[in-house]
Formats: sequence, C-alpha cells, structure tokens
Amino acid sequence: MSRLGFRVIPFIKEARTAGEVTEHINAIGEKRSGLPYDIDGVVIKVNDLSLRPRIGENSGRPKWAVAYKFPPEAKLTKLTDITVQVGRTGVLTPLAVLEPVRLAGTTVRAATLHNIDFIKAKDIRIGDTVEVSKAGDIIPEVRRVVLSERPADAVPYEMPAVCPSCGEPVVKDDEAAVRCTNSSCPAQLERNLVHFASRDAMNIDGCGPAIVKLLIGQGLIRDAADIYKLKAEDVAGLDRMGEKSADNLIQAIENSKKAGLDRLIYALGIRNIGAKAASALASHFGNIEALFTAGEEELCSIPDFGAIMAEYTINFFSHPQTRRLIDELTAAGVVTKYEKSAVSDAFAGLTFVLTGTLPTMTREQAEAMITERGGKASSSVSKNTSFVLAGEKAGSKLTKAQALGVPVIDEAEFLGMCGM
Ligand SMILES: [Zn+2]
Repeated sequence: MSRLGFRVIPFIKEARTAGEVTEHINAIGEKRSGLPYDIDGVVIKVNDLSLRPRIGENSGRPKWAVAYKFPPEAKLTKLTDITVQVGRTGVLTPLAVLEPVRLAGTTVRAATLHNIDFIKAKDIRIGDTVEVSKAGDIIPEVRRVVLSERPADAVPYEMPAVCPSCGEPVVKDDEAAVRCTNSSCPAQLERNLVHFASRDAMNIDGCGPAIVKLLIGQGLIRDAADIYKLKAEDVAGLDRMGEKSADNLIQAIENSKKAGLDRLIYALGIRNIGAKAASALASHFGNIEALFTAGEEELCSIPDFGAIMAEYTINFFSHPQTRRLIDELTAAGVVTKYEKSAVSDAFAGLTFVLTGTLPTMTREQAEAMITERGGKASSSVSKNTSFVLAGEKAGSKLTKAQALGVPVIDEAEFLGMCGM
C-alpha cells in the first residue's frame, strides 16, 4: 500500500517473541505524545495466514489478533477557577475551569468535580496545577493535585451557600450533594424543559438547550405546558430563528403530543424514574390519572420498582403544580393514555441484559425494542438470562455471561433478531 502511495503508519514490525511484542509496544508508547494524530493502543496480529484458521475465533472475535490499550494519557494544567452548575433536580455540581490542554484527541477546558467530597478528598484548590486524564478516553477527569506547584495563597474550596442561578439558600442532602430546592429556579427550569423535549422523552426536534434558554429568557415559557402554547410568530422573532425553522419547531411540538404515556412520564423528570421505569408505570397504570392515586404497595409490586422510586413518584404526583401541569398538558391535547405499542411477541419469555456502549443505539432505544416485542430488559446476569447484548467496553456482565454460558450477541445480531 505504501508503494501505491497510501499513507501508512511507520510502526509495523514483526516480533518473534512475547518479549519483542512488549518492547515494541513500549517503543510506540514513547513516541505517542509526539505523533501528529492520536492513538489509543497497538494491535498485535499473527501474520502467518495459514495459522489463523487453526487458531480460530471466539464468537466472532479472532483469537489471532488482540488490541493492547495504552493507559489513559495524562497531562498537567492549571485549574483557574471552579464554577457551579445547577442540574435538573437542583443539585449543584462544581466544575473545574482549566487552562486548555490537548488530551486524547480534543482540547479539554473543563472537568466535572462531582461534589464537595470529591474536592475535599483530593484537596483541589483554585490556582492549583492538576493532572488531567480522560476516563475511558472520553470524559476529562482531574486525577490529582501537584502540591509542590500550589500557590501560597490557595485556600480550600467551599460550595456556595446560595444557588448561583436564583440566589436562594441551598441545602445539603444526606448524600454528598448540595441542592437548590426552589421550585421556580431558572437553571432547574431550563434543564427540566431540555429534558422534557429530549429525544428519549417527548422528542421535540429543534428544542435543544439554546432555544429553551431563549424561550425562557423571553418569558415565552415557564413550564412544559407553555411549550404547547407557542405560536410560530412567537418563535420566529427569536435570535437565529428563521420562519422555516420556527414552522419546523411548531410542527415538532405538535407531533410530540402523540409521543405516548411512557415518554410523557419519563419527560416529567421525576427523580429516580428513568425511561424504563416510566415505561413500566405507563403499562401498569394505563393512564396518567391513575398515578395521582397510586399507593406505595401497588407501585412496589411493579417489577424492578423499589421503595425509593415509589416514594419519589408519590411525592411528585402529590404536588399541586403537577396537577396543574397535567391538566394543562391534557387540555393541549397531549396523549395521556397508554397505547400498547407492541410490535410483535417475538421476545415473549426472553430476558435481555445490556452492557457496554452500542455502536448506533442508545440503551433506552434497545430496551424499548425489547419490550415492544414482549421481552424483558433486566440489569443483572443470571442463569435465567436469555441473551446478553454487549457493546463497546462491556464489563463484568459480559464476563459473567461467558462464565454462565449465556449467549452473547452484538447490536447487528440483535437487530437481526428484531427483524430489522
Ligand atoms: Zn436555584
């Protein structure tokens, strides 16, 4: 290929012993940071083609080739500030502002510091020099502080006593979390509405964070029901919004009314109720009204439902503002009854466990495809598991499946089983 003019990497080398393989991996590792492109590992292959069929393969994975992954790349940079973001449920999350540093293919400018306990455990202070790496080569992470580089005037970090968005005093949870409990906090409203419109929720195309922020800023929406009162002329007047995209947004809002009860419950953003639990609630109760009177015992009888999930559900539906919101959504024509969207019963009696990241589907999409076909998605592998659907970076569930002899399938095989 090189003779034909293709650009090929200069590192291909024949090794005769395991020692030579290790030596070569180390040599490439040393050159890694100076390369004009990013690499995360080395592939070792048996190059005698006649040996390959004899060595064979393991469920589609050749035994004559293996990837070695380098440990995550780490770099030093300066932590110039700590800012605080307010999440959908009011949790305040500290974020490290970093001097930009190039790491595993992208420029990193910020990293989450999770909570005050994380900051205290690592004694992270503004002005510190910190070592940053990417967890799983994706999410930037502050690994440690270089204490010898600490400025003399650096002081231990404290979380703010008031919410940076609304200025109300914050409360400390039983966990490490600090929370703003103001139900009309603008930052929470924004996150809530972005969640409401998101793909796995009401799936309102074009209603992302930027638009939601503008709509709130212009006083056009104060809760989810207000989305359904928007008119094309309201939207067309916003920054960077043409008439065409305004029409598209209004159409997407209209279409979302038929999203279904399961998506609606998920979209409400009840704490601890994810897409799967929302779907279980929808199929169990059949309509949104039944949830206002649901008791703990009945909720806990739903498979995979625990006392905490039941408590948050009851709490959410006991708020007067929930009653108001649901009434307005119903009046706007949003579907609040469950229509069983069963596609077939191809998976009746089968239990699937998902692990790792699938190449094209989200976990929620795969789970929906399983339940639509009468199957069950479970979170732990046992001898009763029918299939383990494994993606990239599959962990202990995959190991356990292999130990128990549970068949492991990839996304392509799964889609085939779904008849797609
Ligand atoms: Zn607030």
